[in-house]
Formats: sequence, structure tokens, C-alpha cells
Amino acid sequence: MAKQMLFVYNPRAGKAQIRSNLLDIIDTFVKAGYEVTVYPTQAAGDAVKAVRERRDGYDMVVCSGGDGTLDEVVSGMMKSEKRLPVGYVPAGSTNDFANSLGIPKSMLQAADVVVNGRNFACDVGKFNHSIFIYVAAFGIFTDVSYETPQDTKNVLGHAAYLIEGVKRLPSVRSYPLKITCKESVIEGEFLYGMITNSHSVGGFRGITGQNVALDDGLFEVTLIRKPSNPLDINNIIRALVDKRVKSEHIYTFTTEKLKVESEEPVAWTLDGEFGGEHLTVEIESWHQALEIRVPKETD
Ligand SMILES: [Mg+2]
Repeated sequence: MAKQMLFVYNPRAGKAQIRSNLLDIIDTFVKAGYEVTVYPTQAAGDAVKAVRERRDGYDMVVCSGGDGTLDEVVSGMMKSEKRLPVGYVPAGSTNDFANSLGIPKSMLQAADVVVNGRNFACDVGKFNHSIFIYVAAFGIFTDVSYETPQDTKNVLGHAAYLIEGVKRLPSVRSYPLKITCKESVIEGEFLYGMITNSHSVGGFRGITGQNVALDDGLFEVTLIRKPSNPLDINNIIRALVDKRVKSEHIYTFTTEKLKVESEEPVAWTLDGEFGGEHLTVEIESWHQALEIRVPKETD
């Protein structure tokens, strides 16, 4: 009997680039012995429902779209008792997570990885009652990161882009926070924070830290304190541009679990999508919770 595949895709992702590839992608799956059920998402949140309601009877769920679509498919899967392997054919503009996993940019090559690759047991982030795959963030750079077109980022480069964000620092909103993890308690005024499990964020590789592993049960955390004078701002810029420079305004560490408390609501983004406003956020790594299809040679 043929193996059954549920293929969920976002027809609008990445300038609708799936349109010209869809037939060849499905052909790749069928040639590999799958019977394919195709579901084009109709609205935001649709992919979560599609996976939750339809996953029974399938051997694999494959999604195509941007990081937001993947986030939805994984959300649907994590709410299921029986979790199936997830394949990913990226179609978004940035695709930080696909890059971290070594999934090819070409949609047809990515489709080939889905059927000829191997399972990789990947960590998933718990965020209160939601999940995220690779980044939960608040504050200044979140909007810069997702509003800046990839073309502009490519032209500006990493440093220029960060400086663009930091130039806005004096006028930027900050949040009085208490951050608790096993290793320490940090209190103060923060204007940015990101909790990541990824080699890149916003299209920038290496920004999250060194020795990143997607299956080690650990997040990389970056927090930026509010600067109090122009000298501080200078220092933050230097530390962001040159990672060897230490700044007392930037905290970086790894942890498996942390709690972020605030007296006023903080707006978060999860995998680049709005993740709600929260007073208290509990974030925990769900160690190797999801099997995802990756190229054979990737570790
Ligand atoms: Mg990790």
C-alpha cells in the first residue's frame, strides 16, 4: 500500500513562488511512493487546524511556505498525541530555520530531501501555551528585522542593519523585566530580547551565538539593556558588530528554561509572527520533540 502524505502549503508565501513548482513537487512525492493529499491554506491559523483535524491515517506531513507556515504546522503537530515526521519545503523570503537545518533553497531539491532525507529529532520551544520553532523575541529589533526587505538587508549587511536599529535606541521603548533561569536572575530595563534555537535570525547567520545545536535542549538568549548615555550606545554598537567586544549592556547565555516577568504587557513575536502581549512568559525547550526531514549528510 502507498504511504500517505498530507501536503499543506501556503499559496501566498514567498511571492507565490510555489505556483511554478507545485506540479513537480507533487510528482517528486508520488514517484517516491506517496499518495498525496494537498491542502492549500486559506487564512492565517489554517495550517494548525488542517494538521490537527486531518493527520490521522497519514505517514508524514509536509508543509510549504515561510517560517510562519512551518510554525503553524508544527503547532498542530505538537497538539497531537501521535506526532508524525514533518517535511519542509521553504517558500518564504528569509527561512532562517530551513537554513539552520541545511534544507536547500531550491523547492525541488527541498522536496527531494523530504522523501530521500532522514529524520532529525529537533527541539521545539514552549512559550506559555504556544510553541515556537526557532525564535521568540521582543523589543526594538523585532520590527526592524521583519519589516526590512531581504534585498535591503543584503545591501546593508549585518553591521549596517544593526546600527540602523541601534540608532533608534534613544527614542525606543524599554521594558522593566525580571528574567529568571536556573543559572541566574537578571533585573533591569531592557529594550530587546531574543530566545533562539537557530543559526540565523532575520537572515543573519551567526547572530544568535556560537556552538548552536538544534537538538541540545538549549536556547541561546540575547538581552540588551537600555543604554543611559551616548557612550553606552556606542558600546552596544561595537559589541553587536564585533562579537569579541564585551558590553555590560548585552547579556548572552544558554539555558533550557526561563521566565520573563514584566509589570506591563510586552509584545512578543514567535517565529516572526505576532505572538501576543504578555505579563509573564515561561519558555522551555521541548527536547527533541519533533522529527523533521533533513538532508542525509547534515548532522
Ligand atoms: Mg539548541
